[in-house]
Amino acid sequence: LISKLPNVGTTIFTTMSQLAADTGALNLSQGFPDFDGPEALREAVARHVMAGHNQYAPMTGLPALREQVAAKVADLYRRDVDAAAEVTITPGATQAIFCAIQAAIHPGDEVIVFDPCYDSYEPSVQLAGGVCIHQQLSLSDFRIDWQRLADAITPRTRMIVLNTPHNPSGALIDADDLDRLAALIRERDIYLLSDEVYEHLLFDGREHASVLRHDELYQRAFVISSFGKTYHVTGWKTGYVVAPPMLSVELRKVHQYVSFTGVTPLQWALADFMAAHPEHITELPAFYQAKRDLFCDLLAGSRFSFTRAAGTYFQLADYSAIRPDLDDVAMAEWLTREHGVACIPISVFYQNPPADLRLVRFCFAKREETLRQAAERLCAI
Ligand code: PMP
Ligand code: GLN
Repeated sequence: LISKLPNVGTTIFTTMSQLAADTGALNLSQGFPDFDGPEALREAVARHVMAGHNQYAPMTGLPALREQVAAKVADLYRRDVDAAAEVTITPGATQAIFCAIQAAIHPGDEVIVFDPCYDSYEPSVQLAGGVCIHQQLSLSDFRIDWQRLADAITPRTRMIVLNTPHNPSGALIDADDLDRLAALIRERDIYLLSDEVYEHLLFDGREHASVLRHDELYQRAFVISSFGKTYHVTGWKTGYVVAPPMLSVELRKVHQYVSFTGVTPLQWALADFMAAHPEHITELPAFYQAKRDLFCDLLAGSRFSFTRAAGTYFQLADYSAIRPDLDDVAMAEWLTREHGVACIPISVFYQNPPADLRLVRFCFAKREETLRQAAERLCAI
């Protein structure tokens, strides 16, 4: 077989979680909680399974769940979206990203992504016959260089991929950035994929600048989120896309042949839980901020240096005072094998990683005892 993805191997998440399991290290690598989702949510799945909600959900997702998403979008982002025409439930954000890219990208189209960028965008673009044009975010604050972005736009540019809050840096895009972007792509045939899976994880009172808040940008956007992140159930692989009707029509043409629909009882349970527990999402920032602060306060006693993440459940840490001789892949392996803490090297999220990159990513979606144990090991180095 002639590979369609000759440069793709096993993802860093699989590699590092496997190494953590093999070595017995604390796993702060792949992003998932080591605690469970809310009991009422898990009970609701059992209830719906027993109630016989086990056949195909409608292709676009259960109406009750789409209504909950639309209500949330109205409440948080002041946008009225039509749950029937603009909300599609998907088996995870990863599938949503893939479908949106297949729907929009033709062979030869260019897609601008910002490095370090999440690993699923580029293979999805390649399978559509498109080409990713990589722009580096500044290493000091992970912000977009607007002049360089303007210079990178060509007549072939068909899509720009945004990710805010940003994995792996935790950096945010703000409302001014969205205005700048709107001015740049006005009058051009360019679409947006806005990966907002960490939309509820912003700290220190910061507000999420969702593309859903922006009238002009929304008209050409696929806005993607993940229930897995929001409800501590990454293994449920359930997410959604909000997009204007014309874009949703095209997205659904792909989605119906990639998976047709998502898992039925999970959708029932999420709809019930969202209706009964609107406080869950408003309490999330404080919940994760406490974890970030615990981890960072403890890590302050180490030789790692860092700026506290503004969002997501990831904390970057610079290790140049510890092992400047190691690149970040070697460092992540050394930390896992020799010090019992697994993390993610960030060079894997770059097309051309900066030579002096000495950053690793720790996931702090962990119980207090896990964070304390990990920090103790990291402070002993
Ligand atoms: N985008 C980003 C930036 C992510 O970090 C993740 C999480 N793994 C995803 C998409 C995929 O989410 P899901 O697990 O719902 O497919
Ligand atoms: N998004 C998760 C992370 O960044 C990983 C998801 C996956 O394993 N594909 O760690």
